[in-house]
Order: sequence, then structure tokens, then C-alpha cells
Amino acid sequence: MNEEKKDQKGILEDIEKLMPPEAGFVKAEYEGPDIAVYVKNIAAVYGNDSIVRNISATIKKKLIVRSDPSELIDVEKATEIIRRLIPKEAGINDIHFILEFGEVSIEALKPGIVIGKGGSTLKSIVAETHWVPKILRTPTINSDVIKGVRQLLYKESEFRKKFLNSVGKKINQPIMKSEWIKVTALGGFREVGRSSLLLETNHSKILIDCGINPEPGIKGADAAQNGENRAYPYLDSANITLNDIDAIILTHAHMDHIGFVPYLFKYGYDGPVYCTPPTRDLAALLLYDYLKLIQRSGGTPLYDEKDVRKMLTHMIVRDYNEVTNVTDEIKLTYHNAGHILGSALVHLHIGEGMYNIVYTGDIKYGFTRLFDFADTRYPRIDSLFIESTYGGQNDIMPNRQVSETVLMETIKKTIDEGGKVLIPLFAVGRSQDIMVVLDEYANSDPRYKIDAPIYLDGMILEASAIHTAYPEYLKQSLQHKILSNRSPFESEIFEIAKGERSEILEKGPAVILASGGMLNGGVSLEYFKAMAEDPKNTLIFVGYNSAFSLGRRVQNGLKEIALPDEDGKMSLIKINMQVKTIEGFSGHSDRKQLMHFVQDLRPLPKKIFTMHGEESKCEDLARGLESRIRVETRAPMNLDSIRLK
Ligand SMILES: [Zn+2]
Repeated sequence: MNEEKKDQKGILEDIEKLMPPEAGFVKAEYEGPDIAVYVKNIAAVYGNDSIVRNISATIKKKLIVRSDPSELIDVEKATEIIRRLIPKEAGINDIHFILEFGEVSIEALKPGIVIGKGGSTLKSIVAETHWVPKILRTPTINSDVIKGVRQLLYKESEFRKKFLNSVGKKINQPIMKSEWIKVTALGGFREVGRSSLLLETNHSKILIDCGINPEPGIKGADAAQNGENRAYPYLDSANITLNDIDAIILTHAHMDHIGFVPYLFKYGYDGPVYCTPPTRDLAALLLYDYLKLIQRSGGTPLYDEKDVRKMLTHMIVRDYNEVTNVTDEIKLTYHNAGHILGSALVHLHIGEGMYNIVYTGDIKYGFTRLFDFADTRYPRIDSLFIESTYGGQNDIMPNRQVSETVLMETIKKTIDEGGKVLIPLFAVGRSQDIMVVLDEYANSDPRYKIDAPIYLDGMILEASAIHTAYPEYLKQSLQHKILSNRSPFESEIFEIAKGERSEILEKGPAVILASGGMLNGGVSLEYFKAMAEDPKNTLIFVGYNSAFSLGRRVQNGLKEIALPDEDGKMSLIKINMQVKTIEGFSGHSDRKQLMHFVQDLRPLPKKIFTMHGEESKCEDLARGLESRIRVETRAPMNLDSIRLK
């Protein structure tokens, strides 16, 4: 214990020596994985990149410089100065002072203008107010979720400060060398859903992803009574308590990767959850929506909103390519995964050069309108864990260009013949991809001009709004459009459906993008019920339909179905509308893309494990990779423990 204390103090004392004397060092303390330094004269250090960079390099941690609270000028005066220094066209819409962190958060439509050339405006703000500005982008479309998350974090600043300090103390315990590393498959192996992997060494325990299986028909509690529960990860069999877990690392915001995390908070987990900033906001959107859906259908949710809020206040966000210590011996780096906004591959460096793992989460190694291809460059890879959703030998998707043309032709034909088009979509990801396609064709190709309104309904708008807050996570061409007021998400071709569903349905031809990807509840089901009987209408599937979903049954040719109407009475609906499935829009890689991704990895991994796919797909991809790459490849089962070192 004594030695530990000395060691912890050690790093903090080093910083004092490394700081220039004119800065007037007051104290240094841990703040999560980073170190915060408080000084009397912040202008002597702030914006001097070489000082901060040198100290960061020496202590191998991110250094955050702040004013000693006694130096912070009065909030009213500071607001005045900030308003004077920042040009009007920056579009400031909130200035919020966070005393606990000596920070002033400035929300603006144009962060670039707030920052100024070479950070000049920020430097002036620091010099005149001594508060450290943090710039947040205001989404160009109003987002209640982003507002809610930001308000929550402001409100919980005092808690956040204490929490980050205790996480930091834990991370900065002296490094003890681990002798072994093992992983245990807790969920999502040889199946899709409830992804979770436990990583253990002598000294650390990390959970990567912790999802649920949201498919209907896999009701956790009911299935458990029948001896099997495929809804939640096998945490209870892992022989650990929640307090043993040092950190949870999330790859992206889909329910099958995050849906179980609030449950852990409900039952006492109080450690950090790492994710990218967009993943935090999308997680809030999807988890609140999940709870609402269960309540509406009369079910009992596993946890409630309070547990989701607890999770949000325990999140530590990191951008791509930032190296972060999550324990004394494990370093995390996120890389672009190309799957949905903020989705990431996880690179873990364990011990000093002892072992390196890449865990893909879900990846797209192919063209989409939203993201760059998944990253293939890593410092080292000993083991690769790779998704296999479309890993089967025959899972080859058509060329994206062809898919787009088929989509446009199908829409046009239906509209020209006086019908309506319904496209049920997952609110996050596919919706935005399709919106960009529609906007692109409307503006560039007169052959596909759609002479009908295109309505957006359900969660699509909120999800798109979150995209506009993070343009730097999108591919450059799209980023440019958003930053130069040509955002396809605000294109004039779209109309927002505001509670006038019956009106839309009574009017003539229209295209309707509605959330609820697999027709499992959500607004897409409401439209489906009203549109199904008219043979002039067309239903277009562009995404995944799970085995038990209504979407899958309709896709397979279902001709009639009894569904509850508005009053809850069952009524028989004949399905006469055209049903079309257009492949090629998936956010997952197909077989070819998965193979290419691994072949293009540098360096090549020494061992590969397949996961996140039906049993046959995981096995098939493992076989394919082993024969192509010639490295040991396996498709582990849930509950398998594997010693890596
Ligand atoms: Zn996903």
C-alpha cells in the first residue's frame, strides 16, 4: 500500500517539475485516464502546444491544463468577454460555466469560427477570463437527445469530478506485470445478439460490449423458465462480481452491443464505460426508445430510465485514434469501423508489448454514402475477433451502384403508377444512408425525379439530427455538405410527418421513410397496416429482417395477417401491395468484404476468432479465412474460455 501511494504521487510530482515556473503550479490530479493540472497563470501554458505535448509524452497521458479556481473571473463578466470575442456568425446558442472543471462550454453552430485561426480566439478567451473553453457543435437539426445528454452531464458535474478522480486513482496504480491473458465468450458467439466478451489478466478485468438479443420470441424471463435464455449475456456464469470489472468498452450503439449495460448499473456496477461521443448520444436515443417500446406493449423492462442516466454519467468518451489507459496495463484505441455513426473497432495493447487484440464489433469494409471503410492499420495484432453476420460463402451482396439504381427505379415506377412507397428503416444508419441516396439522385439525375412528397416519420429525424452534431465522424464529402449548409438530412425534398399520418395516407402518391426496420412495432407498422391492401403500393426492404420478425414473414410471401387496430381489436389484413427486397445497403460487410478486410490488415493477425453470426456463418468464415490467410482460426462457442497468453 505504501509503495502504491508513493508511486501514485510520483507521476503527479513529475508534472510539477515539468511545468514552466511562470505558470505557477498549484496542483495536479487524476481525471479518469487523464491528468488535470491547476495553475495560477494559465496564459503561460494554454495554447503552448510544445509544453503540453512534451509533458504528455513524458508522462504518457493526456494533460489538461486549468486555472486554479481563485483565478477564474466572475461568470457574468466572462460571458460578456466571450460574446465580445466570438464573431456573431459563429452562431452561439449556449454558454455554460462548469466550476468543478474550470471550463466554459460554448455551444455553437460553427465551432471553426469560435476557435479562430490557429486557436487565436480560444487563446484570447483564456487570457482574459482564465476559464478554459470547450467547444460543442450545435446540431443543425434540433436534437432533444443531445440537449438532454448535455444537460445531464452539466447537472452531474460534481459527481463526474469525484467519479473521474477515483477512476484515475485506480488506473494509476503501479504497473504489476501480468503473466496470463484469457478471454471468455459471454454472448454473441455463433449467434447474432447479446454480444459480450470478458478479458482477464492477473490484474485486470474488462468487458467488451454487453448487449441483449432484442428479437421478439426471445423473452429473457420466459425462456429462462424453459431452461434456456438467449436474451442476455452469460455474466452470471463468469464467476466475477460487478465490482471486479475495471471497465466496460463499447464498440457502437446498437442494442445487441449496449442493451445490457444499464442493467449492470442497476445491480451495482459503478465503474467507467468507454465509448466514442456519438455512441454515447445514440445509446441514449436507442435505450430510451427501447424502454418506451416495452412499456407501450405492456411488458416489464429490465431496468428503467434512471439506470440509463446512471450509465450516461459514467461514460468516458474518446475519439478515434486516441490512446487511453483503461487500467494500469491495458491501453485502448478506437478505430473507425464504418458501420454506424461513431462505430469503432477496439485495439487493446496489454502490458508493455506483451499482447495486442483487435475486436471488430460490426464493420463495413465497402462503399456507403456515410462512412469511410473500416480501418486496417494497427501497431500490432496478436488476436483478431471478427464479426461474421454475412460471413457465409454465399453471402455476396450486389454492387452498391446497382442497388441504388434498382431502388430509384422501383420508387419511380410505383409513384408514376399512382401508388405509395413504404420503406421501413432502422432509425440509425440505414435511414441516413437512404436519405443521402435520395437527395443525391434528386439533385443530379433528372431521370429519377420523384414527383411526390418524401415523408420522414418516427425516430429518423432525431437520429439524423445527432449525425449533424458529429460531421467529423462522417466521410469527407458528406462532412463538407453539412458544413456548407447543403446537409442532405435537411434537403428540401424531405417533409417531416407531424402527427398527420391519416392525411398522408389519404393523399396521392408519396414515399414514406418510417422507423421500425423489421415492421416490429414502431411507426412503420402503422403505415404498413394502412397501405398493405392496395396493390398499387410498394413495400421496400433495404435492411436486415430477423428470423422471427413480421418483416421476414412478409418478405417470404405472407398473404394475410391479423393485427390489432387502433382500438386493440384484431383485424385481418390482406397483403396485396408489392414487396421488394433490395440488398446492398447493409452496414455490415459481406463475405467478400470480410475476407478483404482481413487480407488488407497490417500487420496480419497471428490468430483469428469469428463471432457475431449464425453458427454456420461463423464456422464458414473461419474455414474461409484459415485457408486464405493461413493463420489459426476458430469459431468459439458462448462460454468458451480461451487462454491467449
Ligand atoms: Zn451493429
